[in-house]
Amino acid sequence: MVASCSAHGCVNRQIKGIKNHFFTFPLRNPERNAKWIKAVGRKGFIPTKNARFCSNHFLKSDFKTPVGGTYKLLLCDDAVPSIFNMTVIQTPTTIYITQKCVNQLQVN
Ligand SMILES: [Zn+2]
Repeated sequence: MVASCSAHGCVNRQIKGIKNHFFTFPLRNPERNAKWIKAVGRKGFIPTKNARFCSNHFLKSDFKTPVGGTYKLLLCDDAVPSIFNMTVIQTPTTIYITQKCVNQLQVN
C-alpha cells in the first residue's frame, strides 16, 4: 500500500523516486501526537501507525542528524508540522543541525 501524506490538501505519496521524506505520527507521545493531529486540519482525524506527514510540512530547524552517521532525516524530538502552504515545495536535501537539537543530543 502506498502511504500518502495526512496533511489537509497535500497530495504527496510515498512512492519510489520521490524526494520527500515521510514521518509517522508520534503515537507513543500523546502530547506531541495531539499537536500533530491538530496540524492535520481534518475534523475527527485519528492517526493510525501508517499515518504520515511528508517533509514539506516541517521547518529546516525541525530536522536533526541522527546519531550514528546515516543520512536518513530525523526530526527533533519536539518537532511539529507547521508548514501548510502547498504552493511552496521545499525538499530538504541537506541535513540541518539546530542548536536546540544539538543540546538534545548531548542530554541524551
Ligand atoms: Zn504532505
